[in-house]
Amino acid sequence: MRVLAIAAFLCASLPAVTVLGQHTLDIVENNGLSENRIDLVIMGDGYTSGEQQDFGADALNAVDHLFGKRPSKQYREFFNIVTISTTSNESGADHPSTSEYADTFYDCAYDCAGLEHLICCDYSTILSVAGAEYPAHDVVLLLVNDQQYGGSGGPVAIASTSPISNDIPFHEFGHTFAGLGDEYDNPYPGFVCEDIYPNVSFTSNRDDLKWNHWVNEDTPLPTPESAAVDNQEPVGAYEGACYQTVGLFRPVHECVMRSLNNDFCAVCTEQMVLSYYGFVEPVDTYSPAQDSHEGVHGDSIDFSVEAVEPTPNTLTYTWDLDGELLSWSDSANLEFFFECVDQGEHQLTVTVSDLTNLVMVDPENLMTMSVSWTITRTDDGPVEDCDDPDAGGDAFINGGLNPGKSGCGCYTIQTRGTLLSSLLALILT
Ligand SMILES: [Zn+2]
Repeated sequence: MRVLAIAAFLCASLPAVTVLGQHTLDIVENNGLSENRIDLVIMGDGYTSGEQQDFGADALNAVDHLFGKRPSKQYREFFNIVTISTTSNESGADHPSTSEYADTFYDCAYDCAGLEHLICCDYSTILSVAGAEYPAHDVVLLLVNDQQYGGSGGPVAIASTSPISNDIPFHEFGHTFAGLGDEYDNPYPGFVCEDIYPNVSFTSNRDDLKWNHWVNEDTPLPTPESAAVDNQEPVGAYEGACYQTVGLFRPVHECVMRSLNNDFCAVCTEQMVLSYYGFVEPVDTYSPAQDSHEGVHGDSIDFSVEAVEPTPNTLTYTWDLDGELLSWSDSANLEFFFECVDQGEHQLTVTVSDLTNLVMVDPENLMTMSVSWTITRTDDGPVEDCDDPDAGGDAFINGGLNPGKSGCGCYTIQTRGTLLSSLLALILT
């Protein structure tokens, strides 16, 4: 169950003389145990004691933007979000090119590496504070309280509070989470692009294109810019990526990995979703927790799984007994009746899969998870005829009480248009 708690930034409770280095942790959103969630920490630099409320507002604004577009919008339930507020002596950040300096806790500065918009900070202090205040952190976003556009990636995603910096965290999280490469072709002297990015190709050959499953047969390859009907359609192989104008290809005309104020393209979106599943398994918990169960005629057991649901919910649940599919349903629950199986050991398995259309290929099967129980009927009593055609499959699949229930209460299950007439011992509840 999602618990949404807006952080309280109690600036009024701060001491009159702020102790440098004091940090306050607030929970913005808690969607589950950290061990199966992506824990996002939002921190701030250049906020004075009188600007702590500004940090709170800026952090919530950043959350709104981060989770306002695909795929984070659909997978917000996969995240826990906290803020760590820190008081700086002075507001803003350093601007060495104009000899403006601010005494801030994380020592953030523009003009990093001679680039006006590149902000560098004291990463070791940021990460040590994050580690001390919130050891479960997976990813850190630092907001710099300065109205000039700027930011950077690396060990911490950094974005200034300029409104046009809102998309910077998207872009940086593309690097951080999914190992995406930059799709822009401005030169980066000295940088040698390696063939390691899922969204950058060294060839436009259809068979060798990493994302060829997204490319329609009638899309020309390489794809001229004139073939683009909009920024992100069609997916093809557009020349210019990874700081090179020729010889390297990107999936679409414009993606947020190429220029801000865009969405992730289909290829980058797919990689982002897969990266989420590198942190989060589809199933949080299951019940009963024990692997093995015994029972006799007349006994039944309620089985269930609790999964991490995207929004909208694109999960499916399938149940099988001894390898035979029992149902096709969105239900996470199933009641097992022992009288409908013969004496001996049986294997009940539920498989949870995310069928989102944001992902076409899941090579490591990250989006599917199965849970199995061993069920042993110990008595040699009669096996009930659980095949009750009158009950109909739909009633079973839709769950709830089935008015046609009789005998052992087991029903024929209609799955994907097929009427299974095998032993049918399970009723969805
Ligand atoms: Zn992209």
